[in-house]
Amino acid sequence: MDNKNNQWRQDFPILDQKVNDENLVYLDNAATTQKPQTVIDDLVNFYQNDNANVHRGVHTLAERSTEQFETAREKIQKFINAEHSDEIIYTKGTTDALNIIARSYGAENIVAGDEIVISYLEHHSNLIPWQQLAIQKHAVLKYIELDDDGFVDLADAKKKITDKTKIVSIAHVSNVLGVINPVKEIAQIAHSHGAVMVVDGAQSVPHMPVDVQDLDCDFLAFSGHKMLGPTGIGILYGKEKLLNAMPPVDFGGEMINFVHLYETSWNDLPWKFEAGTPNIAGAIVLGYAVDYLSKIGMQNIFDYENELVDYVLPKLLNIEGLTVYGPQDPAKHTSVISFNLDGLHPHDLATGLDMEGVAVRAGHHCAQPLMTYLGISATARASFYFYNTKEDADILVNSIVATKEFFKNGTV
Ligand code: PMP
Repeated sequence: MDNKNNQWRQDFPILDQKVNDENLVYLDNAATTQKPQTVIDDLVNFYQNDNANVHRGVHTLAERSTEQFETAREKIQKFINAEHSDEIIYTKGTTDALNIIARSYGAENIVAGDEIVISYLEHHSNLIPWQQLAIQKHAVLKYIELDDDGFVDLADAKKKITDKTKIVSIAHVSNVLGVINPVKEIAQIAHSHGAVMVVDGAQSVPHMPVDVQDLDCDFLAFSGHKMLGPTGIGILYGKEKLLNAMPPVDFGGEMINFVHLYETSWNDLPWKFEAGTPNIAGAIVLGYAVDYLSKIGMQNIFDYENELVDYVLPKLLNIEGLTVYGPQDPAKHTSVISFNLDGLHPHDLATGLDMEGVAVRAGHHCAQPLMTYLGISATARASFYFYNTKEDADILVNSIVATKEFFKNGTV
C-alpha cells in the first residue's frame, strides 16, 4: 500500500467531512473503526432483501438469512484459523465474550484457593469478570508485572503462574501502551501448569494476523466494531472440547434441544451459547467486513500500520514536554499511542485537537489499574488504522504543537 496516496481511504465516506472547519482526521480507531461503503451497503442490502429470523423457518427468506449467518461464521473461523466453525460463538462483543468465559468456564472450574492470573495492563472487561469470579469463589486474583517498556513480563509470568492457577487471561495488544504481549509464550506456561489461556484480542484481531492454533490459546475474544463491522456483534472463540464441557450461561430459545417441564437438554455448539434471536445482521455484516480485511491482507495491514508508527512516533517524541507511554522504540510499538503533554490535562489536549479536526480519545481508557500503575490519572490516545496516512500523522503532530502554543499563549 502506498502510504501517501492511500487507496483504501476513499472507501470510507465518513472520513470525507469537515469538523470545526478542518478536514476530519479520525484517530480513535482503538475505540471503534469506521465502516467502508461496501459494508454499509451490505447491511442495508440484508434488511432490504433477506431479513428473516434464523434457524426457525423453512421459508426462503429464513433459509437465505440462515445461510448467510452460518457462512459468516465460517469466514470468521478461517480468519482466525480455528479448527472448527462450531468453535465460533456470536456474542455482543469482547466484553460479553469474556463475561461468558468467566460465568461458564470460571463458574464450573474455579474453587476456593484457586488462582486466576491477569496483568496490570488489562482493560476493565478483562479484569472485572475475573475479579468478581475470584470474590464469589474465594479464589486468588494475581497480577503479572509489566517490564520497562510496558510489555507483560514473561519472567514474572513464570513466577505468578503456578500449579494452583486455573485461568490466565491477557490482552494480546494493549489498548493503552500499544504493546504486543507474548501470549503464545504465556499460553505455554499456563498449559505447563494445567491452566487455560484466555486472550483478549480486541486490539489485535483487527490489526494483525491472529492464528488461534498457532497461539494455542484456549479462548479468544474480539469485537466486530473495531474491525469495520457493526456494533453489538463480537466473537468468542473456544476450543471445541472446552466449549462442549461448559454449561450455557443464558437460557431461552435456540440454545435448547428438548425442554421438559422440569429439565432441559442443550443444543449443540455453537448454538448452546446463543440464546434468543441473535444479532443476525451484525453477524452477517461482520462476515463481509472480514472479506474486506482479508482482501487487503492482515499482514499488509500490520506492515502498513508499522510504517505509520515508524513515521509518527519519533515526531511525537520530539515534541518538548510530550511523554509517550509504552515502548519508545517504534519497532516495539503498535498503532495505539498514548501520550500526555506537560501542564495540560489530556481532556484539554483532546479538545484542542478536536478544534483542528483531529479525533483522539482522552481518559483512563477503561484501564484504571494501569493508570494507577503508571502513576497518572489519564492520557490522550491516538490510534491509527489502515485508512490513516502519513499526512494524518503530520496533522496530529502539528495540531499537538498548535494546542500547546494555544494554551501557553492564549492563541493558535
Ligand atoms: N479489551 C480491549 C483491549 C479493548 O480495547 C476493548 C475496547 N476498548 C475491550 C476489551 C472491550 O471491547 P468492547 O467494548 O467492544 O466489548
